[in-house]
Amino acid sequence: MKKLAIYPGTFDPITNGHLDIVHRSVNLFDSVVVAVTTNPSKTPLFSVEERMEMVRTVTSDLHNLQVEKFDGLLMDYAKKKHADVVIRGLRAITDFEYEFQMALMNRRLAGDIVTLFLMPNEKYTYLNSTIVKEVAKFNGDVSSFVPDEVCQRLKMKFNHS
Ligand code: ADP
Repeated sequence: MKKLAIYPGTFDPITNGHLDIVHRSVNLFDSVVVAVTTNPSKTPLFSVEERMEMVRTVTSDLHNLQVEKFDGLLMDYAKKKHADVVIRGLRAITDFEYEFQMALMNRRLAGDIVTLFLMPNEKYTYLNSTIVKEVAKFNGDVSSFVPDEVCQRLKMKFNHS
């Protein structure tokens, strides 16, 4: 049986930390869907279409990966896709409590879908999209935290180009 994993998130924007998890995932599963949430509760900087486009651009070399958007409950989407696994990245301990709660709730909602936590290379442990946006906003150099295409998109968004 072919195994499908979903890697959900806001990806506002995708960082090298997210990409690290993506690369680990495509090596583990037959196919992987990066699922970009349309949930506006975090008031993203980039539209869902822009976020998906950036993910597509930086993963175009990965043949068993697709990029989609979803709204509503992740587990409803995962069931609809017949996913086997939901992947989450685990960074510093700050992620742990929230992720633990989510994973247990999601197990209640869909007991046959496994939440799998992957750890990125330790150099990405303290990296998140929020900090990247903060630095980019003031024209700081984020080139070692995000792919080049994302760097350019951030510059355009903040009118620094
Ligand atoms: P969410 O809105 O679900 O937190 P994010 O886009 O922030 O979405 O992150 C999606 C997933 O990627 C989450 O599981 C998050 O823990 C993980 N992630 C984010 N940044 C990193 C990173 N630097 N290294 C590893 N995993 C990460």
